[in-house]
Amino acid sequence: MKALVIAETKGNSIKKVSLELLSQCRRWGLETSAVVVGSGVSGLCDELAAYGASTVYVADDASLERYLTLPYAKVVSEAAKQSGAQLVLVSGSELGKDLAPRLAARLGAGAVTDAKAVSVDGGKVTVKSLAYAGKVMNQVAFKSDVAVVTAQPGTFELADKAAGSANVVRLETPESDLRVVLREILKETSDKVDLGEANIVVAGGRGMKGPEGVKLIESLADTLGAAIGGSRAVCDSGLMPHSCQVGQTGRVVAPQVYFAIGISGAIQHLAGMTGSKVIIAINTDPDAPIFNVADYGLVADLFEAVPILISELSKIKAGAATAAR
Ligand SMILES: Cc1cc2nc3c(=O)[nH]c(=O)nc-3n(C[C@H](O)[C@H](O)[C@H](O)COP(=O)(O)OP(=O)(O)OC[C@H]3O[C@@H](n4cnc5c(N)ncnc54)[C@H](O)[C@@H]3O)c2cc1C
Repeated sequence: MKALVIAETKGNSIKKVSLELLSQCRRWGLETSAVVVGSGVSGLCDELAAYGASTVYVADDASLERYLTLPYAKVVSEAAKQSGAQLVLVSGSELGKDLAPRLAARLGAGAVTDAKAVSVDGGKVTVKSLAYAGKVMNQVAFKSDVAVVTAQPGTFELADKAAGSANVVRLETPESDLRVVLREILKETSDKVDLGEANIVVAGGRGMKGPEGVKLIESLADTLGAAIGGSRAVCDSGLMPHSCQVGQTGRVVAPQVYFAIGISGAIQHLAGMTGSKVIIAINTDPDAPIFNVADYGLVADLFEAVPILISELSKIKAGAATAAR
C-alpha cells in the first residue's frame, strides 16, 4: 500500500507530528511519500527521507510562505495523485483540520479526523475515532479508494532517524487565487512550549481558584519544561487565555504526560486529553471523574501538593545537572 504524509513546518524544521506519521508508515511497511509546501522548504527533504519518505514532493515558493486553503489543497492533491497514495495522513492541527476535508473532496476520498488508532491490513485502512465528546468510539472503514486521516501529535511513536535520501519531485506553484487573501496573522507572542507539540502538559482547572493557583501551575510547567493547559472553566473566567483550553471545544493533546490539577474531568475536558500516554491527576475530591482516566491519582489540595512537587523535581534536576558536570 502507498501512503502520503503531509509535512507541516515550523520555522525551518518539520513538526514532530509529521515525523511521527512518517515513522508509523515505516512501521506498517508502506511505500511512503511526503509532501512539503512553503517558502524555503526544499532543504527539509533529507529530514523527511530520514524518517521514511522515499519520495518527497516539494512546492517551494515565496507565495506559499503562509498557509492558504486553496493553493495548499491544489498542491497537496497533485502530490496525492502523483504518488498514487491510498492513505493520506496529516496532523490534526488547525492546518490539517482545514486541509483534510478539502483534500478529501478533491480526491473523492473518505476522511476521518482525530484518529485515535489506525490499522492498515493489506489494502484496507480502519480508523478508530471518538465521537459525542468521547462517549462513543467509532470504528470506520473506507469505501473510497483513498483514505484521508488526521491524527493528533503523540498518536504514534517517533522512530529513530535512519540513513536515506529521497527522490525529490518539484511541484508547480499554483497561480495565485485571489478569492482569499491573507492580510495578517494575529497571534499571541509567547516563549512557552506549544501545547500541541509538548511532551508534557500541565493543566489547571477551577481548583486553582485564582491567580495564585495559576502561578503554581506555571511554576510546575517551567520546572518540567512543559506546556500549560487549562479547562474551559478557567479559560472562560479569564484566568488563562483561550489558547490554553484543552477539550472538546479547545485543543486536543496527546502528550507523554498530562497533569490534570484541580480539574474535575468533565466529559468535554476528557475529549481533549485522554490520548495522553500517562495521566496524573491531583484533586481534593476522591470521587472526581478525572480519577477514572488517571494512571496516577493524588487526593490532595493542589496548594499543598504542587509546591512539594516543584521542590522535589527541582532537587532531582539539580542532582542530574551536578552529575552531568
Ligand atoms: C458544549 C460544551 C463544550 C465544552 N467544552 C469544554 C472543553 O473544551 N474543555 C473543558 O475543559 N471543558 C469544556 N466544557 C465544560 C465542562 O463541562 C466543565 O464545565 C469544565 O471542564 C469544568 O472545568 P473544571 O474541571 O476546571 O471545573 P470544575 O468542574 O468546577 O472542577 C474543579 C475541580 O477542582 C477540584 N478542586 C477544588 N479545589 C481544589 C484544590 N484546592 N486542590 C485540588 N483540587 C481542587 C474540585 O474537586 C473539582 O473536581 C464544555 C461544556 C459544554 C457544554
